[in-house]
Amino acid sequence: MTISGSWQRTARGAGLLSAEGKIAPTIFAEMSELAASTGAINLGQGFPDEDGPIEVLDAARRAIKNGVNQYPPGIGMPVLREAISEHQKRFYGLTVDPDREVLVTAGATEALAATILALTDEGDEVVTLEPFYDAYGGLIALGRAQHRTVPLRLPDFQPNHDDLRAAITDRTRLILINNPHNPTGAVLPRETLELIVELAHEHDALIVTDEVYEHLTFDVPHIPIASLPGARERTITISSAAKTFSVTGWKIGWVTAPAELITAITAVKQFLTYVNGAPFQPAVAVGLALPDSFYTGIAETMKGKRDMLTAGLVKAGFEVFPSQGSYFVIADAAPLGYKNAAKLCRKLPNLAGVVGVPISAFCHEELASEYSSLVRFAFCKTEDVLERASAQLARLGR
Ligand code: PMP
Ligand code: GLN
Repeated sequence: MTISGSWQRTARGAGLLSAEGKIAPTIFAEMSELAASTGAINLGQGFPDEDGPIEVLDAARRAIKNGVNQYPPGIGMPVLREAISEHQKRFYGLTVDPDREVLVTAGATEALAATILALTDEGDEVVTLEPFYDAYGGLIALGRAQHRTVPLRLPDFQPNHDDLRAAITDRTRLILINNPHNPTGAVLPRETLELIVELAHEHDALIVTDEVYEHLTFDVPHIPIASLPGARERTITISSAAKTFSVTGWKIGWVTAPAELITAITAVKQFLTYVNGAPFQPAVAVGLALPDSFYTGIAETMKGKRDMLTAGLVKAGFEVFPSQGSYFVIADAAPLGYKNAAKLCRKLPNLAGVVGVPISAFCHEELASEYSSLVRFAFCKTEDVLERASAQLARLGR
């Protein structure tokens, strides 16, 4: 059978499908499969190995028991939209109308998909930072937009302001940032966010900001770009329950944006999933209303885990680049004699019983070769697991 939908050509062009029509698994799926088949410790795909707050889990159980099991409203349940609006006000002083400026989605991933498909035309440019979360490349390709990137340079993985000025032009439709940043752990400072807002105005572009790690920054504040002067009216903010409440399998995400943009994004979203996760929506609302101590607690705990894995990696002989946020830290395997992290990561289960992800998987070819010896490790794991992983990785240097 020949399958010849036009998206197939696009997907092939973007490397999502092989010439034989085989789906290329995402790097996360591949590495989790490798961990499962070898029994290695999985510091590849970013998911916690412990449950999140019991109040949130109990609320979901209650909702299922109480019959919250049918289609929720297309834009999300009022209780969750109100909780999202309250959260934006409590943490960032942002006023968001829960009925017109909030959309609940099937994870941040669907929010990204619906936003890109709704707001770009074929050939429009979408500027992202690079390395970039894998879905960005896939979704921009499926939307038939053009992907332009701004490199994040060692050692702090911050974008150079001249590079931002050069990449953002009148052809730019969306400036898609990820802050805190996966895979580098970089957190964008206010000056950079201000420049992005200025460039968005100058070139009449929209800002899309993926802030799924908003509550996981270490020693630096998270500044939502929508909170800067002049940003709110052209910013689409995306977040998710996955990381904050350790529920990556629930797939409850959301978008906050001006009403007109929410309407455009909803128009696409309704034909992607229509709706999802009825009993999880009120449970996430419970999470969003947890006291400040919960939020400071998760950042503190995650910082401890970052410190632990960072120390372990340094001891094992990697050069480690400090992570300011997210679940991830980047380590250079070159000092250990490994120049090719893509190859190393496929051998790492045998060498050390650990799985990591090569940074090249988050890059286009040019930067991939520059960053060929870098590996991303996830530290969202129990201390015991991080200790064992560190001890095992220490074998590499012997
Ligand atoms: N954006 C980034 C930067 C991520 O790391 C992830 C992975 N959780 C997502 C989006 C997807 O989030 P979700 O699971 O809510 O779709
Ligand atoms: N966000 C997770 C990570 O970066 C992966 C999610 C996925 O497997 N698509 O590891």
